[in-house]
Amino acid sequence: MSSGKLVLFSGPSGVGKDTLLDLLVRLRPQLQRSVSLTTRAPRAGEVDGVDYFFVTPQQFAKMQADGDVLEFAQYGDNLYGTPKPPVDAWLAAGKTVILKIEVQGAEKIKRLYPQALSVFILPPSQQVLEKRLRDRGTENEQELAKRLAIAKEELRKSASYDYRIVNDDLERAAQEFLSILDSADHAEVRE
Ligand code: 5GP
Repeated sequence: MSSGKLVLFSGPSGVGKDTLLDLLVRLRPQLQRSVSLTTRAPRAGEVDGVDYFFVTPQQFAKMQADGDVLEFAQYGDNLYGTPKPPVDAWLAAGKTVILKIEVQGAEKIKRLYPQALSVFILPPSQQVLEKRLRDRGTENEQELAKRLAIAKEELRKSASYDYRIVNDDLERAAQEFLSILDSADHAEVRE
């Protein structure tokens, strides 16, 4: 039977998840990164179909009605969700699939796939997180305040993840992630 592994990759906004994921996929090209749906507007430089599938709330609702959304969550004022058909296909092909996902979505996936490996990326401190988020300059003050409030809640919930990695140094954090992946004796997800 073909089977793959599902990895839940969470962490507060601004912690560097995308940069870390870019490096992980460069270091290990066979890792399959899932591209999420979102109703938020693209940031400068973000590419549709690469960073996200940018959809309208109506398109999102249609995909849900068609059973094509594995999980979804509201984050701030927007919806985020994992497209189901590609994930099913990758798992059936035996791939290791990484879902970038916030904590509510991760909880849902853990219920659906108890063997999924969950990893939470932590900032070195809350101050560093706030600074990184501000320096990124992609959100206005109101949106920033929302993200920081969500981050506090997420940091509290991070205790329930299988592993937590501090993103103090990108290369080091990536190596820690890969060694967790290699040593984790998690049962494979069966189709
Ligand atoms: P951002 O707007 O910063 O790209 O993402 C906001 C939050 O949504 C992040 O915590 C990110 O991990 C999460 N997220 C991205 N894609 C998904 C998804 O498919 N499902 C869920 N539940 N959360 C997601």
